[in-house]
Amino acid sequence: MKKTMEDRIHEAAKVFAEGNTLTVPSAWKPLKAGNMKLAKSVLIWSIPAGLTCPNAADCVATCYAMKAQRMYPSVRFGRMRRLALAILEQEWLEDRIVEQILTAKTAKAVRIHESGDFWSLDYVEFWCRIARRVLKERAVQFYTYTKMTGFAAQLREAGINVVESVLPDGSINYGPASEITNRARRLGVPVCPVTLGVDAKCGESCRLCWTRRYVAFVQH
Ligand code: SF4
Repeated sequence: MKKTMEDRIHEAAKVFAEGNTLTVPSAWKPLKAGNMKLAKSVLIWSIPAGLTCPNAADCVATCYAMKAQRMYPSVRFGRMRRLALAILEQEWLEDRIVEQILTAKTAKAVRIHESGDFWSLDYVEFWCRIARRVLKERAVQFYTYTKMTGFAAQLREAGINVVESVLPDGSINYGPASEITNRARRLGVPVCPVTLGVDAKCGESCRLCWTRRYVAFVQH
């Protein structure tokens, strides 16, 4: 029988766990606070790009998240370990993520997936439970990006804003500058100012992705 994407991901997680310990230092935090482009008040979750992305062949050549994991073994390792924990130690990880968000008093938002995508219903439900548990206790904006638009309604119902990678005309929300600006204008979709070269700080002066269903991005 042909293996599904979920089968392949579970196998990859098991192989990783056989060769590496999943025991993390006590100070380890599942989410990182900001990066060079994102405000520190945004907590970020990342899993391997490509492996967990549907139709990865369409965008792998220009994917910025793939570049980072190819260039830096520590990035690749960290993403793979988070994925393995999300599969093999899910309850434990859920509690750790909820605890981190609830105790990060300066956190204003959680970005699910700097890299990766929603590859199974079980994984979608994992994030929905986290969002519901956190939102009962404090107001934090959850947001994410996905090509798996079939999961969008369920994620939104749990309080997670979903930026769909497929635009209303069926095209991808990412591409060369002239192509993407024309497409965005025609569809009435905003373009990410950072990718247009505007001096904006993601999560501070721009929060389009926190609330919008469609945002377009210039390839950079
Ligand atoms: S549109 Fe705004 S919130 Fe979205 S990635 Fe660009 S800068 Fe960040």
